[in-house]
Amino acid sequence: MTQAKLIADTDPHRLARAISGYNLIGGALVEARSGRTFPVVNPATGREIGQAAHSDASDVDQAVAAAAGAQPAWAATAARKRGTLVAECSRLLAEHVEELGRLVALETGKALRTESRVEASVVADALQFYGGLGSELKGETVPFSPDMLTFTQRDPIGVVGVIIPWNAPMMLMALKIAPALVAGNTVVVKSAEEAPLAVLRVCQILNQKLPPGVLNIVSGYGADCGAPLVAHPSVGKVTFTGSVETGRIVARTAGEKLIPVTLELGGKSPMIVMDDADLPKAVAGAVSGMRFTRQGQSCTAASRILVHEKVHDEFVAMLKARVDAMKMGDPLHEETDIGTIISRPQLDKVLGYIESGRSEPGAQAHECSQLPADEALRAGLFVRPVIFTGLDNASRLAREEIFGPVTCVIRFSSYEEALTMANDSDFGLAATIWTQNLKTALDATRRLQAGFVQVNQNIVVQPGLSYGGVKQSGLGREASLEAMLDHFTHKKTVIFNMT
Ligand code: NAD
Repeated sequence: MTQAKLIADTDPHRLARAISGYNLIGGALVEARSGRTFPVVNPATGREIGQAAHSDASDVDQAVAAAAGAQPAWAATAARKRGTLVAECSRLLAEHVEELGRLVALETGKALRTESRVEASVVADALQFYGGLGSELKGETVPFSPDMLTFTQRDPIGVVGVIIPWNAPMMLMALKIAPALVAGNTVVVKSAEEAPLAVLRVCQILNQKLPPGVLNIVSGYGADCGAPLVAHPSVGKVTFTGSVETGRIVARTAGEKLIPVTLELGGKSPMIVMDDADLPKAVAGAVSGMRFTRQGQSCTAASRILVHEKVHDEFVAMLKARVDAMKMGDPLHEETDIGTIISRPQLDKVLGYIESGRSEPGAQAHECSQLPADEALRAGLFVRPVIFTGLDNASRLAREEIFGPVTCVIRFSSYEEALTMANDSDFGLAATIWTQNLKTALDATRRLQAGFVQVNQNIVVQPGLSYGGVKQSGLGREASLEAMLDHFTHKKTVIFNMT
C-alpha cells in the first residue's frame, strides 16, 4: 500500500471501527459497490463491533480483475524475491501480533491468552516458513533422449480463490495465501461472514509490502460472494476450508470448470487411550486436543475419546477435574481459558446435540466449568463443556461433527476394538494414540485412517508439517513444501530438440 506505515493499534474496538465496511482490492480499502454492509458482532456481549462490506459478484469481479492484472508481473518476479517479500511480510506482521490477537478474540470469542494470540503468531510463522521456500520451486531434468533436453518447470496457476471459515481465520488464510503467493499466483480471499475483520487487517498489513493487486480480500456471504468467486472464469484454483456440505458445492463448481481444488473439511477425530498410557499426560492431551479453550470449535478436535475399560473411570474423573478448573469468561481477559461459541445458530446447534446426547439410553452428561457471572457477558454465547460417557460409537454424537465443547468418552476392551471404532467414521482428519507400547503405537500409525496421526501427543497444525484429511475430511494437503508445489503450481514438461 502506498500510504504511510500502519501503526499497530492494540485497542480492538477502535481498530474494528477503523477497518469497518471495507474490502481490500488493488491495494486500496474500498466499499462494496452496492454500498451495503452487514454487522460484525462480539459473541461475548452480543454487541456490534463494526461492519463488513456486503460484497456480491460485482465486487468479486473487481477483485479478480485486480488479481489478474497483477499476476503477470508477480509471476515474472524471481521466485526467491517473492519469497523474500513474503518473509518481510512475516516480520512486519510480527509487530502486530498483539493487536491481531485482540481483534480476532473480539470478533470470534476465542480467548486471547489460550487461543487468539497464539493464532496471530502462527500467521507470522507460516509466512516465514513459506518465505524461505522460493528457491524450492525447482524442476527436474529427464534423461529422455541424448538429442533432446527435457526438463520440467513449476508454473504458477494464475489467480487463486481462497475461502476460509471463522474458527481460526487468520491462520487458515495464511496457510493458503503464503504458498500461493510464493509460487507466483495472485490471490482473492473471501472471508467468513462471522469473522471478516482480523483477516482484513492482516491483508492490509501485508499490502504494505506486496505490490497492489497481488493480495485482495472481499467479505460477504457464501452464496453472494463465495460462489461467484469459485465460478469466476479467471480463477484457476480454489482452496477451501469449511464444512463438508459447502466443500461439496465448491468441488461441484470446480468440477464443472475443471480447475483444481483443495478442500480442508470436517472431522470426528478419535483419540485412543490404551491401559498402559501415561494417564495424566493423556488427560492433558485430551484437554488440548479437544480444544476446550476454543469451545471445541476445531476441525481436529479430539471429539471421540476411546478409553480402555481398565482406565476409563479414572480417565473420566481426571478429565472432568481438569476441564472443571478451566475458567470461562471475557475472551480479552488474561485469566480466561475458555471463550464463546461463534454465533447464535452455532450455539443452538451445539445445545441441540447436547439434548440429543442426554436422551441416548445409558448416556451420562458431565457438565464442566462454570458460566461467567459477569453481568456484561449475560448475552454472551457461552456454553459449559460437556463430557459424555456411556455413548455408543454408532450414536449421533459420536458420528457427526458438533464443532462445540462436547466430547464422548467411549469404553473399549481390546486394541482391535478401539481401532475398528476409530476407523468407523465418515471422517479421517486426525487421530492420536496414547500408549507406552512401541509396537502398538507403530501398528496404529499404519492402520489409523487419518491424514494426521500422533502418538502420545495432542494435535497441532504447524507450518512445515503436511496437514489434511482422508475420506470426507478433504482433498489435498496444506502447511508443507509439497502443498505449495502440488497445489499451487502446474508442472510443465519442456522437450527441447537439440538436433
Ligand atoms: P462453512 O462451510 O459454512 O463456511 C466456510 C466458508 O465457505 C465461509 O467463508 C462461507 O461464507 C463460505 N461459503 C458458504 N457457502 C458457500 C458457497 N456456496 N460457495 C462458496 N463459499 C461458500 O463452514 P464454517 O461453519 O464457517 O466452518 C466450520 C467448518 O469448517 C467445520 O466443518 C470445520 O470442521 C471446518 N474446518 C476445517 C478445517 C480443516 O483444516 N480441515 C479447519 C477449520 C475448519
